[in-house]
Amino acid sequence: MNFKMLPCVAFAGAMSMAVMYNSASASDGTVPPQALYSQLESFHGQVCAGSIFGARLGLAAKEALKKAGGTGKFTARYYDLSCPVDGIQMAAGTTYGNKALMVQDRDEHRLVLIAEGNKLAVKARLTKKAEEMGQKSRELVKKAKALPTGSPERVQAELAIEEIYSWLKSAPAAEVVTINLLKK
Ligand SMILES: [Zn+2]
Repeated sequence: MNFKMLPCVAFAGAMSMAVMYNSASASDGTVPPQALYSQLESFHGQVCAGSIFGARLGLAAKEALKKAGGTGKFTARYYDLSCPVDGIQMAAGTTYGNKALMVQDRDEHRLVLIAEGNKLAVKARLTKKAEEMGQKSRELVKKAKALPTGSPERVQAELAIEEIYSWLKSAPAAEVVTINLLKK
């Protein structure tokens, strides 16, 4: 499968809180809390599918690696230089500045998180459904931006975008991320 570059297609329309946070209660420890998304929005500068993907990948990988018994400092490798990198830094706590993140620009949305203590590692990728939803949101953002502000078509597109972001943020981790434990 080829992964296309994901440009930061951000959406700055009026967000409906009621739509965005309706399923924030799904807490199996791998659904990022709203506070994290708020921080991410400030850090990244806007809301977009890519940064949300990063948060989902980062948190799911961190929780899986902890559960598998990973010890010591966690370090991350990501294989695309784009929006998800910011979500990963926020959610996995592996930052570029603390030398816990290496990025190789290979157009692959693949995160490898390594426990430096015992060298356990997990690989996290997006599910097909998540990729499709992300793609759909990017198309809708482009469509909405081309429509007159306040027009019924634009309002409808904006609502559809919000629904997708809401799903990306709060769906159970297994629907958004695929995790594999890597052999030592
Ligand atoms: Zn972005």
